[in-house]
Amino acid sequence: MTGRPRIAIVGGGLAGIAAALDCADAGAAVTLLEVRPRLGGAAYSFEREGLAVDNGQHVFLRCCTEYRSLLARLGAEHDVVLQERLEIPVLRPDGRTAMLRRNGAPAPLHLAGALARYRLLTPRQRLGVARAMLALRGVDPDDPANDARAFGGWLDEQRQGEAEIQAIWRLIVLPTLNLEPAQASLAQVAQVFQVGLLHDAGAGDIGYARVPLSQLHDEPARRTLARAGVDVRLRWRAERVVPRAGGACRIEGGEGPVDADAVVVAVPHGRAAALLPPEAAVDPTQLERLGSSPIVNVHVVYDRRVLETPFAAGVDTPVQWLFDRGSPAGVAGGQYVAVSVSAADDEQSMDPDTLREHYLTALAALLPAARGARVERCFVTREHAATFRAAPGARALRPGPRTGLPSVVLAGSWTDTAWPATMEGAVRSGQTAAGVALAAVPHGSQRAAVTA
Ligand SMILES: Cc1cc2nc3c(=O)[nH]c(=O)nc-3n(C[C@H](O)[C@H](O)[C@H](O)COP(=O)(O)OP(=O)(O)OC[C@H]3O[C@@H](n4cnc5c(N)ncnc54)[C@H](O)[C@@H]3O)c2cc1C
Repeated sequence: MTGRPRIAIVGGGLAGIAAALDCADAGAAVTLLEVRPRLGGAAYSFEREGLAVDNGQHVFLRCCTEYRSLLARLGAEHDVVLQERLEIPVLRPDGRTAMLRRNGAPAPLHLAGALARYRLLTPRQRLGVARAMLALRGVDPDDPANDARAFGGWLDEQRQGEAEIQAIWRLIVLPTLNLEPAQASLAQVAQVFQVGLLHDAGAGDIGYARVPLSQLHDEPARRTLARAGVDVRLRWRAERVVPRAGGACRIEGGEGPVDADAVVVAVPHGRAAALLPPEAAVDPTQLERLGSSPIVNVHVVYDRRVLETPFAAGVDTPVQWLFDRGSPAGVAGGQYVAVSVSAADDEQSMDPDTLREHYLTALAALLPAARGARVERCFVTREHAATFRAAPGARALRPGPRTGLPSVVLAGSWTDTAWPATMEGAVRSGQTAAGVALAAVPHGSQRAAVTA
């Protein structure tokens, strides 16, 4: 016994990393238990035939302040690019393109010019979208009635037709919520648009990694946690959390039990229930009802450049978003393009050949230079449970950090952060959980303010 409070963190994703650093900063003796041989959780990369491949393209926005602070803490802030001003090239298979670019005006006028010039919609449709966006500014994301409502019904009410949905709403909702607009919770969509686009002009500027994800998260996190004195145990599978006398707990699994004064359980929601003791009073059926939504990525290496911008969005094509992965992956000469397919309920069970054929045809229709290019490599990665489903009623199902046991605390992008399942949500949840865990341990002078 060191005299310092002992806090165990189960799960070394971004939530667990953030929680571990905050607890260590507050003076706790921290042990981080992660089943995989690496940190970074759902945002990682691996090597395939000499290519550094991200499990799925990850982007963030300027408003992701806590994720960006974590990157700075890890010394990895120079390994990401953040646009000076939001700029999204939008491509269509008929060759018509558009650019969604914000101007220097304050929100929401920063988008007025982009919408006014948006060639994929008629002037009347653009006006209708502007009106609906202003109406969305007034939707309370914390109102349970809006959580229970589908965004699809609200779009109908705002007289948004298929063209507006395809050319604007789907473009933003798919990558941020990993659901089709019609299936998403109105409250969750309102949160995304308000925080990311409608309240602060710079909030929606897009950022992405210029190195493979594990180089961004795993290696820097290991170094930073070690410097902070955190005992990181990889390949350590937690089997269960057992309450002990005096409010302490024991984590069983791995190479033997780990005793702690508090534990932060920062594993995916599909795994949390099995670890928690009944006294934690977390309803497993509630977590099950949160469900999951898949993301599929199609990775293509061409023998030449086919995409001239770092990324682009597609409209009226199966190619939702595509990214130039050349330099992060270490491809010289040709170009490595990754297509990110969110809400991939159909694609997740399609066989690889069909998927390849489907997306190579779609890419050729979208990118003139791809038509004459040779495909050197093409493969598919799938994350079947990439995120929870931000469907109507999801917010009500997301538990906060506290459980029925003061010393057992929850974290993860699926907990009730108000954010969708994002890296920002994960980091915020970890920070909140750290505050709750520190307040629960018997070490008054080192208790952190509980922000939850
Ligand atoms: C393909 C894909 C694309 C995405 N795109 C984006 C994006 O563009 N922008 C964005 O912000 N977010 C994106 N996300 C979501 C984002 O990656 C996640 O929300 C976030 O990384 C979740 O972090 P977390 O720490 O909450 O959970 P996780 O990253 O899931 O971490 C949980 C950890 O717990 C470990 N674990 C599980 N069980 C045990 C056990 N029994 N014992 C010990 N350890 C255990 C796991 O191995 C894992 O490392 C994407 C996700 C995927 C899959």
